[in-house]
Amino acid sequence: MLAYVNGEILPDSQASISIFDRGFLYGDGVFETLRTYNRELFRLTDHLKRLERSARAINLPIPSLDFLREALVKTLRANQVKEDVLVRITVTRGRGSGGIVSLEPIEASVVVSLRPLPVDLPEVFTEGWQVIIAKRRRLPKSALDPGIKSLNFLNNILARAEATQVGAHEAIMLNERGFVTEGSISNVFLVYNHRLITPSESDGLLPGISRQVVMELARRKGMLVKEVSIKPELLFKAEEVFLTLTSAGIMPIVKVNDRFIANGKPGRITNELYQDFNRQARLESKIAE
Ligand code: PLP
Repeated sequence: MLAYVNGEILPDSQASISIFDRGFLYGDGVFETLRTYNRELFRLTDHLKRLERSARAINLPIPSLDFLREALVKTLRANQVKEDVLVRITVTRGRGSGGIVSLEPIEASVVVSLRPLPVDLPEVFTEGWQVIIAKRRRLPKSALDPGIKSLNFLNNILARAEATQVGAHEAIMLNERGFVTEGSISNVFLVYNHRLITPSESDGLLPGISRQVVMELARRKGMLVKEVSIKPELLFKAEEVFLTLTSAGIMPIVKVNDRFIANGKPGRITNELYQDFNRQARLESKIAE
């Protein structure tokens, strides 16, 4: 596929950045992963705004949102994709001197790359995912706010590895106080007493774009949606549990650690919200055309 690197579009096999790029050396940068529906970027403005917020939180000067939007759209169009894809934009603090302190002002590096969606998403939805509650805690807000979508992903990678080791799909992380935060690449929702509940941002998580869409759709259906602090034990008492993430939109959770959720099948409300999500995304893609 074709990638975008600092203004140039070229085959991704030939795309490269400097070995002194601070994103490569220190994870000093921010990123967004978007997906297309009907080959249109879903919630592009929301993703760009989150990128801007992340950059501001780490004092990273980035090009204008119009410039970044153009880079994303240009790369997507250049690829003439026939299927929906995942599109990532990475903005780093750029090429420094190699040390942790960068004395001279340096120019941000901007990279856009595409990759295919997992092919089996609809089938996986019908089976649902198994998750674990990771031993590794989510980074405290006071150290590095999980609300910043930064290139520092080791916390997530190491939690996810715990899941992979035992054959689970995703790892749910708790914060230092023992409350549920989020998955390594996803947000968590519970259906409990016919209400939709999700961990509140103050517990330390990335406010997902898909999380936002699901809250909108659930409220539109007349459901009560609450952002609260959630103890892990509540996961086992929930009527339904699901994750939200860009690639799948919604992914049902059928098992947490070694315990099935309800009857071990994706729940009714999860299914309905999944249908609503896909309908909404396709509707918005028609408007964007
Ligand atoms: N939480 C984390 C840590 C993530 O990395 C992601 C996405 O990559 C999410 C949640 C879900 O966010 P979104 O719905 O915007 O993909």
